[in-house]
Amino acid sequence: MNKEKRIEILTRLRDNNPQPTTELLFDSPFELLISVLLSAQATDVSVNKATRPLYAVANTPQAILDLGVDGVKSYIKTIGLFNTKAENVIKTCRMLVELHNSEVPEDRAALEALPGVGRKTANVVLNTAFGWPTIAVDTHIFRVCNRTKFAPGKNVDEVEQKLLRVVPAEFKVDCHHWFILHGRYTCIARKPRCGSCIIEDLCEFSEKVYPED
Ligand code: SF4
Repeated sequence: MNKEKRIEILTRLRDNNPQPTTELLFDSPFELLISVLLSAQATDVSVNKATRPLYAVANTPQAILDLGVDGVKSYIKTIGLFNTKAENVIKTCRMLVELHNSEVPEDRAALEALPGVGRKTANVVLNTAFGWPTIAVDTHIFRVCNRTKFAPGKNVDEVEQKLLRVVPAEFKVDCHHWFILHGRYTCIARKPRCGSCIIEDLCEFSEKVYPED
């Protein structure tokens, strides 16, 4: 895909949604960190359902630490992999209290050192809580970038590196959210909605799906 098409795609996505953000509900970098950690292989809706009551009683590292693993589990048991996630939440809170003065560090290495926090979660937190021009690549972004040929790659790391190279600076901060939302609601996995896609004429996918198909 050439540069002009990429810029046109980003411009249309921006015109359609000038201030995109995550669908996870959060009121602080700490809440965002915990919600992203919980969202692995779970929908944002299911995470929000669990975290609203949790954050109402505990929304600081120390308060969640005081709940203990079983206390956390009681709030998140509707989310997949909740046993492991509860352990990681507690370990992460302990590290935040002991090493980071109960603050979420604005530092990639420090974030990735937290249990349950990988490159994708660190990218989301740096981007969404702190405004860094990072581009976290999840399953939706991976699919959209490969189908459209915007930034093809064999794995999420390749796609991320390509995006960082080809997305102009003015679009970098919001690119992650535009592509996630596009993948979640239009370029969906099983049957993309090409007939109502605002970048259909620019997309280079060879197997587009239209309503009559
Ligand atoms: S035209 Fe279809 S395949 Fe291409 S981005 Fe739109 S929904 Fe996805």
